[in-house]
Amino acid sequence: MGASSPSARNPQVVTRFAPSPTGFLHIGGARTALFNYLFARHHGGKFLLRIEDTDRARSTEPAIAAILDGLSWLGLDADGEIVYQFARAARHAEVAHQLLAAGHAYRCYATAEELDEMREKARAEKRPMRYDGRWRDRTDGPADQPHVIRLKAPQTGEVTIDDKVQGPVTVANAELDDMVLLRSDGTPTYMLAVVVDDHDMGVTHVIRGDDHLNNAFRQLALIRAMDAVEGNWPEPVYAHIPLIHGADGAKLSKRHGALGVDAYRDEMGVLPEALENYLLRLGWGHGDDEFISREQAIDWFTLEAVGRSPSRFDQKKLESVNGHYLRATDDARLVSLVGPRIEVLLERPLTDQDRDLLHRSMPELKKRASDLNGLASSALFYLRSRPIPMDDAAKKLLASAPSGLLARARAVLADVSPWQAAGLEQAARGLADAEALKLGQIAQPLRAALTGAAQSPGLFEVMETLGRQESLDRFDDAISSATN
Ligand code: GLU
Repeated sequence: MGASSPSARNPQVVTRFAPSPTGFLHIGGARTALFNYLFARHHGGKFLLRIEDTDRARSTEPAIAAILDGLSWLGLDADGEIVYQFARAARHAEVAHQLLAAGHAYRCYATAEELDEMREKARAEKRPMRYDGRWRDRTDGPADQPHVIRLKAPQTGEVTIDDKVQGPVTVANAELDDMVLLRSDGTPTYMLAVVVDDHDMGVTHVIRGDDHLNNAFRQLALIRAMDAVEGNWPEPVYAHIPLIHGADGAKLSKRHGALGVDAYRDEMGVLPEALENYLLRLGWGHGDDEFISREQAIDWFTLEAVGRSPSRFDQKKLESVNGHYLRATDDARLVSLVGPRIEVLLERPLTDQDRDLLHRSMPELKKRASDLNGLASSALFYLRSRPIPMDDAAKKLLASAPSGLLARARAVLADVSPWQAAGLEQAARGLADAEALKLGQIAQPLRAALTGAAQSPGLFEVMETLGRQESLDRFDDAISSATN
């Protein structure tokens, strides 16, 4: 195995996640961050975070906070200081001026009207707009007049990017015009900022959505120009990963429902490790392995195994992955995760006693849950004060039970000691035999009386968890409301 083997570690690797803080942390962004994180950790290299806040009109503080919050919830901690792109504008401009001084960039005085004409012409000829290079070889512009600085990009030949996910992709230089580096107000363009920041941060691998593939060719031209000017501007390895699509095959958008990582956490009750596992498997795979721990993911992650075609987001699949992780989560952590949700539903704070009850109910409850909200609502009946509310199905079960059955069951159960599931079940079976009923016929009204619903975790486990007094009192409530 030589150094090029995908599993060879390379501690020089530096990746970055570079979100624009214009909204929440989108699940597509979270997956990009995850891949960058895993790739860096796999190699023992660095994973950096850069906030691309140069769009002043659209970048907001709450969006930055949401991105940081989402990353920290997912446990994707970046190395080193966070880089804020806007704060580096002077450095970006410096590079543009270096290119200008070396003849790799030029001042362009084309007016808005001239650019409109070029745009019109392109439209008439049904081709993309390209700046025609009219100032490329002129130096007679009046420096005090408004102008932009453009890169003097190669006009002939072609560029090939050996993309680690897309494979080799080639574009003719004639397709790329001379892009603007500095606007007429002196502010750097996004393209310039990205290239300078990646260079200064020592980024070796650019892993991002494939909507940026076209940008990569222009960015590469800029890197090559700076390498010609001052040397030591290495080209990064590119890996453009396919975007996530919705179940209908269209690019994932707001139309497909909540997309912010916070909504998966808060509104859908998803565990971070479940979302991570789901996003990891969306576009990357390791054989048929379905549940992959963080350690395994770090060990196994390679760019070569990222798929080339867009993957479809499947809510049902996410729920089933989440159910798996809920069942694997220890009860104390589940109590602390569902606690606040239950307090909202009950509209009161939980007592220590409630928490203890919840803890004891978790082994049964988590068997059936696929998200934390469902888990929280399924736990409510344990904590309600008597008389507990009955849903319609429970009322029906109680109304249709054989006359006096509940009272007879209560009497038999009251004699059971110790108050444990096995003994309680035995007593209920004995009564069923004596009454020539099936166990289920006795269990149904008992469950309705105890839980207020027709479905619940195992009846006798519920009795044991609720305790003798509370169980008998709930039976009494049901008996007296039936006779009233
Ligand atoms: N800021 C860009 C975005 O949020 C990413 C740029 C990059 O990764 O090069 O889409």
